[in-house]
Amino acid sequence: MAAMSERPEAVFSKSPANQPSETGDSIYPAVNNITYLKKQTNGNMNATAPTHSGHLRTIRDHNRGSILRCIDSNPSISRSEITSRVGLTDAAVSRITRELIDAGLVNEGEEIIDNTRPGRRQVGLSINPDGAFILSACLTLFEKRLSLINIAGDVVAKTDLSDLTKFSSDAIVGELGKRARTLIANARVPKARLLGFGVVAAGSIDHGLGLLKAGSIEKLIGLPLRPLIENEFKIPVRLENVGHALNVAESRNNPAAERRSTVLLVHIAMGLGASLVIDGRPHRSDQDERMIGHILVPGASDPCLCGARGCLNTLVSGFAILNRLSGSVITTRSSAPSAAHYDPRALSKTIARANKEERALQALFHEAGLVLGQNLFAVSAAVSPDQIMLAGPVPQVASFASGVMHGMSVNYGRTRLRPPPLHVSHIDYARATELFALDEFLFNLPLRMKQILAG
Ligand SMILES: [Zn+2]
Repeated sequence: MAAMSERPEAVFSKSPANQPSETGDSIYPAVNNITYLKKQTNGNMNATAPTHSGHLRTIRDHNRGSILRCIDSNPSISRSEITSRVGLTDAAVSRITRELIDAGLVNEGEEIIDNTRPGRRQVGLSINPDGAFILSACLTLFEKRLSLINIAGDVVAKTDLSDLTKFSSDAIVGELGKRARTLIANARVPKARLLGFGVVAAGSIDHGLGLLKAGSIEKLIGLPLRPLIENEFKIPVRLENVGHALNVAESRNNPAAERRSTVLLVHIAMGLGASLVIDGRPHRSDQDERMIGHILVPGASDPCLCGARGCLNTLVSGFAILNRLSGSVITTRSSAPSAAHYDPRALSKTIARANKEERALQALFHEAGLVLGQNLFAVSAAVSPDQIMLAGPVPQVASFASGVMHGMSVNYGRTRLRPPPLHVSHIDYARATELFALDEFLFNLPLRMKQILAG
């Protein structure tokens, strides 16, 4: 088989569709099931295609989102403070905040003293938590959860989705719909106050068609999730990969000033994924977020699930760590190594053990982190991020993160430059899904004001 570096398309080819790879694995089957998609959506695939980077948004939608974001990050903020932070006129801020208050999305609080405008009455504005609600579904190997959150980001209701993949591909969306309707009914949330439904999965998203082209959960691949869920609920749906969801969720924790930055996030669970967020928005491409796991490591020779040997996956992923622990590295092509060989619970248990001061395990995590850090040098030299974020379950072991730091310092040392600051995210995949959905539907996509007012 040709090396990855020569023919990357051999691993992630888009065509011919459904052609099994040489290894016979089904980890990256390329699916472009347009006929199925058209049948399921009556040919109406792009009817509600999202406005990716805001081309179709009106200026008013944009300003409304900016003001909501400003109020969200600065509770009890005055109108004049919003004016100075957002850079709009007093009149525009007054008009938009009045509209948001009338729609019940924003509350007026106590009168506040504003020293910058003496003599003028100022009232603090805050997000009204129960002014609107958002659904989110996290569909990863590691976590599967359906959540109903309010616009303060609090979880109003949630349900486990671990058994969702037991249903056939045809039945998955119907089942998801049934459970979502139960959550909404039990929480007594009016339909008009539902802003949208965010869905997050690991792999490669076709944003145009709203489906997963490749991913870690086989039954979701090629399933037109966005159009199907939109048909089911008649609300906007966003589909995103885990890396971007984590990165956007983390950027909410950053103060406004730091949103002007480039953040490279690498998340490590059974496999690896990467995301680049620039000024708070994901750098969107339809490329598989898991490509980073197939960087070739010089000298490494273990077989990867892609069919090549010596990929980063074989040394630093949760799968690699479990494989080393079990002492049975799978070497035959007929049984290509796969995350499916392990229950994600085995990884959770190993992480818990490593965190309970098991020295030998900590050393194993450190070694894995070191290899990742050494290889992150090349990525970060190309991208020059202001910050590197490690996320997912594996970096919750401190020795893994210190290994990454060590590996990066060694390689940066040669350049006499300092590596970018490294942070560990403690947001889990399900929470990242909720916060990503909140960010999208409250701040980035146009709000359906007429409908909210009617509700
Ligand atoms: Zn590989």
